[in-house]
Amino acid sequence: MAKLRTTVNKVKCISSEDCVESAPGVFRLDDEGKSEVYNPAGAPAAAILAAARGCPAKAIIVADEETGTQLFPPPKK
Ligand code: SF4
Repeated sequence: MAKLRTTVNKVKCISSEDCVESAPGVFRLDDEGKSEVYNPAGAPAAAILAAARGCPAKAIIVADEETGTQLFPPPKK
């Protein structure tokens, strides 16, 4: 799978830590208890996408690094 660009919308993040549990090599909580991406390559792409899907606040955005295509959440049509 292509390299991913993963970002967290901190306004939406509700600090549930689901992403930290499912991909601890990628996500951690910052000083304010919001998730941040500290190592974008810290887990396989499938695991990062699974973490994004599992976020209860839909605060994790994953895009293809090369093409910029948003992979999750799926772009609205
Ligand atoms: S799973 Fe979503 S709401 Fe929970 S800490 Fe991660 S980004 Fe925030």
